[in-house]
Amino acid sequence: MRESVRISWSCVILHAVIINAVFAFNTAYAQYIQPDKNLEACQSSRIPCGGHTQASCSRYCVMVGYSSGFCDGSCCLCSNAPAAQIPTSINSQLGTGGSTTYINIGGLLVPMKQQGFASIMGGSLAQSYNLTIPTLATQYNHLKTPSISIPQTQIIGRDDIDNNDIIVSSSPGKEVCMSEACGSEAWNIKSQMDEKVDPCDDFHAFACGGFARNTRIEKDQTEVTQFTILRDKVASQLRVLFEENISPREAKPFALAKKMYKSCMNTGLIERLGFQPLKKVLKELGGWPVLLGNEWRSAPDSWQKWENLVVWFKELGLNLDYFMRISVEQDLQNVEKRYITIGEPALNINDEVMKRGLNEPVVNAYYKYMVEMAVQMGAGREQAKREMLDAANFEINMAKCFFRHAGTKSGNFYNPMTIKQMSIQYPSIPWLEFFQRIMPASLGITEKEIIMVSVPRYLDCFFELVAKTDPRTITNYGVWRVVSASVSYLHKSARSLQLEFMSTITGQKQMQPRWKECTTIVQTNLGNAAGAMYIRRYFNDKAKSDALEMVQDIRRAFLEILNENDWMDSYTKGMAREKAQEISVHIGYPEEHKSDAKIAALYAQFDFKENEYYGNILNLVSGAISSSFGSLRQPVKRSEWSTHGKNAVVNAFYLPLENSIQFPAAILQGHFFNASRPKYLNYASIGWVIGHEITHGFDDQGHQFDKLGNYKNWWAGSTKQTFDRKKQCIIDQYSSFKSHSTGLNLNGEKSQGENIADNGGIKQAYRGYEYWLARNGREKSLAGLNYSPKQLFWISAAQNWCTVQRDEILKHNILTGVHSPGEFRVRGTFANSEEFARDFQCQRGKRMNPVKKCSVW
Ligand SMILES: [Zn+2]
Repeated sequence: MRESVRISWSCVILHAVIINAVFAFNTAYAQYIQPDKNLEACQSSRIPCGGHTQASCSRYCVMVGYSSGFCDGSCCLCSNAPAAQIPTSINSQLGTGGSTTYINIGGLLVPMKQQGFASIMGGSLAQSYNLTIPTLATQYNHLKTPSISIPQTQIIGRDDIDNNDIIVSSSPGKEVCMSEACGSEAWNIKSQMDEKVDPCDDFHAFACGGFARNTRIEKDQTEVTQFTILRDKVASQLRVLFEENISPREAKPFALAKKMYKSCMNTGLIERLGFQPLKKVLKELGGWPVLLGNEWRSAPDSWQKWENLVVWFKELGLNLDYFMRISVEQDLQNVEKRYITIGEPALNINDEVMKRGLNEPVVNAYYKYMVEMAVQMGAGREQAKREMLDAANFEINMAKCFFRHAGTKSGNFYNPMTIKQMSIQYPSIPWLEFFQRIMPASLGITEKEIIMVSVPRYLDCFFELVAKTDPRTITNYGVWRVVSASVSYLHKSARSLQLEFMSTITGQKQMQPRWKECTTIVQTNLGNAAGAMYIRRYFNDKAKSDALEMVQDIRRAFLEILNENDWMDSYTKGMAREKAQEISVHIGYPEEHKSDAKIAALYAQFDFKENEYYGNILNLVSGAISSSFGSLRQPVKRSEWSTHGKNAVVNAFYLPLENSIQFPAAILQGHFFNASRPKYLNYASIGWVIGHEITHGFDDQGHQFDKLGNYKNWWAGSTKQTFDRKKQCIIDQYSSFKSHSTGLNLNGEKSQGENIADNGGIKQAYRGYEYWLARNGREKSLAGLNYSPKQLFWISAAQNWCTVQRDEILKHNILTGVHSPGEFRVRGTFANSEEFARDFQCQRGKRMNPVKKCSVW
């Protein structure tokens, strides 16, 4: 049934009003406010639109569940009717509102009726934030009481935060920001909270309980976080760019991005071709033994060796890294130079999971995936089962050869060897010929060439494994890796098998919409082109200068906290200070992204076609490998702009080999940043991220690199031991956390770097904000939230990590990831903070204010 036209009024409150925010329905509104008086006050105030702009009035009304808002003389009116239908007399409408209850949102009193409210909130806000808000009414019925009390409110002037809006002062010294941006933030923050929870017991649940309750994970998602919400927005923006026509004078990089996108979207053709493009490549590789049966046995000897397969991978534009990682990387001890580097490969499943073998459900699902794919491509089922079992076991045994973690810790991953030395050490491989064939001829590789062998024990173990494995199995494995790497670019039935397997790890039930997937492909693989397109259309440079100011404050905070610490000797402290000062900063985008010619130079070797998706991917991989290998003799330019050109990524980075931090344009928005809102929200969100990245330069790994990024010990004797003791406190603290839904304890050892960064980062962000305050003066709080700016800092910071995720991915992340789950990023970090305990007045001994606290930086 069509809902009857409903009209309400709302004014900025001008007189003494006490609002009880327990919104029981059908209670006489007089209990809460005196609407007539306020209406009169509103009408007689002669302040246009009750202190609102047309835009902020409209925004508020939408925010509280009406379809529109408009200004009528002194009042801001909310309505669900088109403007033409709105009766002119406000009083007559009020007369029908006997059972109206009033809620206060963003400082506005908004009447609401019981019926019809829910449907109004099903609109764009709910969708765009991936929140399923049952009803706004239900939401607010869950709020803590009383939410606000605004005595003696007065208009005090224009807000410098947002030029057009009015500031309301609720009482002397307690000013409330009423700008449009503030109203929107207030709504977002409040809707994510669960104020029934004791903030001193579980601050994450307090700040994110509403988010958890109201967020639904769609079938094509594995989790919903502030990051995924923003990524969805960025994906939609990129989609618009990629779907525009290629103009005749389009710069090459942008044309490439659009062609790649269009080829990915051409699902009709992709379906028609099926396995055809892949099978063509497999034929050139000598075929996949499991598909060829006995035919493969007659293959030439040279095809049966893994090293020859790698050479063929190179020829065909395939990834080379399936047996061992072969790359050109910076010299760890002299970062201006590069070396050919050999290391452990990336396996299809995390090596620690893979090691557990076929009894591990994920590995077993992986084996089944291999079998089903081989069968779909034409293998007999029994043969597929048999041969894929051998191939899976080969990969499991490769995982057992991994010593990376041990290598990293003891620092023994710096092992330069000439090709001649390698030929003596590992004589089964003709190394010189091997490298001459995979590296560009122009490099003139000789046996004097130095190869950096990052984990020699892996090679020993791998060669032992190869020596006892049937060449057919090795080839089955190698070609399987080509197949599995290709599936993402193939037709639906192959993709379904991939999804079925992936869902055992992630819990994802359905493929993402095609446009989103294609957008990700372009953005990931043509990062500079997509990044330049993105910032030219969507980025506001004001964010850049604001973020830079925050970096300066937060770096200063790091330095000051460093000065104050009592556990470092003065020499090491001096070195740390120098390192912090030397960190180079990349915010938003590189200036070069304004020049078509400079970006075009990065893509000279690429050539894509709109009707060859798989071919484009091969072109992309081979171009990337040639460009990387071709750089071997070129000196590394510190902070090369193209390294920092992935602007459309919602993330932030610290690069230890450069000692640099990066905050791409795409993260400087949404929850993380808004130039128009109070700065305590920015310091809490992106500010914490900035502090986090700075602290990475001094975490369990970062502290091993010097100010220029060289792997060098700059720590004086006993200070290093104190550092180890302090980080052990963090390791033990996080190891004691147990994830409720999976029953797993966190791995404090593995996640220590991120936890150290979180703990240092929030401390610096908090202090950085105090510097800002000292320069600019006190800020206003948010209407509808009875918290001080400092308390809002903590709430907003905690909301960085509001997360709803499937148990599968949560479990996988706990077992294999380096980041603690969102809940513990908040609980662990805040429990260590004296400032947090003070701002929320948490008693000593409460869960969020334990007696024992850990601190490194
Ligand atoms: Zn990190």
